[in-house]
Amino acid sequence: MSHNTDLLTLRSATKSYGSVPVLHGIDLSIRDGEFLTVLGPSGSGKTTVLRLIGGLEPLTSGEIRLDGQDISRMPINKRPFNTVFQDYALFPHLTVAGNVGYGLSVRHLPRKEIATRVAEALDLVQLGRFAERFPSQLSGGQRQRVALARALICRPRLVLLDEPLAALDLELRRQMQEFLKSIQREVKTTFLFVTHDQEEAIGMADRICVMEAGYIRQLGSPHELYYRPNCEFVARFFGENNLVAGTLGSVQDGLRAIDTALGRLLCSVEGQPHLQAAATGAAAFAAFRPEALRVASAGDKDNRFSGTIADVAFAGSSTMATIAAGGEASRQRLKMRLASRVEGSAFTAAENVTLAFAPREGHLVLA
Ligand code: ADP
Ligand code: MG
Repeated sequence: MSHNTDLLTLRSATKSYGSVPVLHGIDLSIRDGEFLTVLGPSGSGKTTVLRLIGGLEPLTSGEIRLDGQDISRMPINKRPFNTVFQDYALFPHLTVAGNVGYGLSVRHLPRKEIATRVAEALDLVQLGRFAERFPSQLSGGQRQRVALARALICRPRLVLLDEPLAALDLELRRQMQEFLKSIQREVKTTFLFVTHDQEEAIGMADRICVMEAGYIRQLGSPHELYYRPNCEFVARFFGENNLVAGTLGSVQDGLRAIDTALGRLLCSVEGQPHLQAAATGAAAFAAFRPEALRVASAGDKDNRFSGTIADVAFAGSSTMATIAAGGEASRQRLKMRLASRVEGSAFTAAENVTLAFAPREGHLVLA
């Protein structure tokens, strides 16, 4: 897949309500054809970004460009975007077909063309048999598919989805995640999808934009965010992670030392010039994932430390061990993920263990 051209760009976009700033100079480029997820905790500004793009709110400053053209002042009904909301926003008095075709009938397209396109859109979301039903006769997942068909039928350049799955129960949400992703692949329309759920983001997105408190903290592929978080917030927010505070030491062979309560650790700084260049003695965190941590073997000479198993929690295919490590005064609680089948029952609480992680699996974030 090539998503190389930018479809939509926000430049230094700010938004204040009264004197309260809620977005602080957002720069964001959405590539044509990608599935871009905006991820952040409640109140971080996700909905505001969508409302600015959709034209529901004016920018306070900055600009929005579509194909390079400034559309900051373009009225909402001229923007080639459609929004899917969490609460579906279907018309209760119209049938499924009536809801899906609504956007075309207000544009006075010929009835025959409307009928054809409605049938196509309903087939796409696998609701062909439900054309004559009313929204009240559908399940939550089916209503959300109607809302999606209604958004896609106008052939928008960009579909804006604001936590569209948040009202569904877990099982249905998983199904809808796969369904949305497959539809997006099929129609190749650009999706801007908002969620506060990082698992949902990891599973669906080509790229993820992480927001906190009105700022974009990082934009990258799920893989980049998971393995190369660029700040403490992303390292903590995105997946489970072990963060151990320390001060930076020397750099050698793409690894940098950090002195912590667990002793001197080595972490990868390859391809991360800002971490190679940071001053010696600067405050930072060593970050390593629960699955990177393991019982040390004789061959492990770096990043070895001892600890005590505090808890072992079975979670289906994996088992999570909690380990207390470091001295009394600087106790660290670490997570270690074990494969349940192989090693899940190999540990008991209060057992003493020597652990290690490979330097290449350790990362640094500045404090
Ligand atoms: P999210 O969608 O990430 O939960 P929002 O974009 O809805 O966040 O809100 C970001 C911030 O802007 C919040 O602090 C929220 O209280 C504030 N906010 C949103 N809409 C308004 C409004 N119409 N008037 C005043 N403050 C608002
Ligand atoms: Mg919101």
